[in-house]
Amino acid sequence: MWIQNAAALLPLLLFSTKFLGEAYSPMKMSAAAKATLYDMPVSNNGARARIIIRKKQISTEVDIVSPMELGGLKSPEYLKLNPQGKMPLLTVEGSSFAIPESDTICRYLLSTYADVGPSFLPNDAKSNLIARLHDMYLTTIQGCLYKATPPFGIYGTRKDALDEFRKQMKVIDDLIDADRDGIYLCGSEVSLADATLFPTMTFARHMLPKFGIPETDALPPKIKSWYSQLLAGDDVFNKVHDEVLGALQGWDEKGRWDTIPLAGLRDEDPETIFDKIIAKEIPASVVYEDRAVLAFKDINPAAPAHVLVIPKERNGLSGLRKASPDHVEILGKLLVAAGEISKDESLGFKDGARIVINDGPDGGQEVPHLHVHVLGGRSLTWPPG
Ligand code: AMP
Repeated sequence: MWIQNAAALLPLLLFSTKFLGEAYSPMKMSAAAKATLYDMPVSNNGARARIIIRKKQISTEVDIVSPMELGGLKSPEYLKLNPQGKMPLLTVEGSSFAIPESDTICRYLLSTYADVGPSFLPNDAKSNLIARLHDMYLTTIQGCLYKATPPFGIYGTRKDALDEFRKQMKVIDDLIDADRDGIYLCGSEVSLADATLFPTMTFARHMLPKFGIPETDALPPKIKSWYSQLLAGDDVFNKVHDEVLGALQGWDEKGRWDTIPLAGLRDEDPETIFDKIIAKEIPASVVYEDRAVLAFKDINPAAPAHVLVIPKERNGLSGLRKASPDHVEILGKLLVAAGEISKDESLGFKDGARIVINDGPDGGQEVPHLHVHVLGGRSLTWPPG
């Protein structure tokens, strides 16, 4: 039966392939045909392809041009070649097949130009692992270093993403031999791991200090010593460093980090009594606590059941009017916790509750640390006074 169905689907599949083929078809390229890499100096991921092109001295075979040549990343012409609208992208003359994704581009270049220049150790397990870990766990959240608002990959807050980014650098650091042979990561030869990790470490070194991490701690120790050896000892890496850093300094000049919380924007409002409760410096009747949220009974209850739910890190949320897309995750967590608490009969809640956020003087807010009141235990009147 399924064979009949599959047979029925065949013309449709052929049609789809043909149709897709006009926009994006995986046709095979002829080896060493003239290629074009669409990339820009600031692109840390594309930079690894630029390193390979220069180390292999195949610049005459592979032009490097800006995606603006095709109208930019979101232009129809570019999207036709890469539906993801991302750089880098490699096209090869005489083929409609375009290769996106830095690692795939690099592996294409390494196999197509296998007999030219350094091999980049395509079969070395550690080099492959470092490149893979980088792409899986650093690339996917690197936006926390420079993008305006979360999410960053699976992380809903910048702090969590920054912590994870540093943790993943440490995972890679732990893989590096303390007594490396020479300036590269995996033995005496340059590898894909060097090309992949180095440009992202230029990002980390420049950007983590903007979030209060001392420059000396921006890179973990073995990465740090490898990075400076490579910077001093390899002209191609040095050039890519200058390209990436130069572009980042352009971002600095445009004030890119001035409006980013934890960088240019910090919570400088004075601490409140709730900080003392969070730090357990003064007692409170805590009814719920997790990593992000604390809930405790109001000291001056306005109803038979009255609980306050607060973020453990205020992060600028002195009141709801300070809320921005940076706070989407914590706002959701507060309301979910409030909903759960309002069902807890042991706290005196009965059939429902009133969830209140007083904001600013007109709202009657007294404590400038966002808090959600959960009131219940009796039928409440409306409107409030
Ligand atoms: P708001 O008027 O919305 O700012 O609410 C602040 C709430 O915090 C009030 O209902 C107070 O009763 C409550 N509150 C102030 N200090 C404490 C404390 N130490 N423990 C528990 N609740 C408190």
